[in-house]
Amino acid sequence: MTTYAFRCPECGPFDARYPIGTAPDRCACPACRTASVRVITAPGITGGGNPYRRAVEQSMATADAPQVVSSLPSSGRRPVAVSANPLHRKLPRP
Ligand SMILES: [Zn+2]
Repeated sequence: MTTYAFRCPECGPFDARYPIGTAPDRCACPACRTASVRVITAPGITGGGNPYRRAVEQSMATADAPQVVSSLPSSGRRPVAVSANPLHRKLPRP
């Protein structure tokens, strides 16, 4: 099943799902039953379970529609474990 875009002259755009290659040129609007023309849109390519693709899509979404927060995020810092071993003081610090 593929999602096709239609535009109702009364209600505006809506989506309908049909098997690939079987979408009609006109479809009844689900709200007002008016015959609506099919609109050609860019293909909806999704990355599925690819984590790299998901990360890219999330970063692009933040540029277009950033999420609004109602409070500051928590610091997220965990307490640093301090070693009592004196040799550890000579190790390079991060
Ligand atoms: Zn309609």
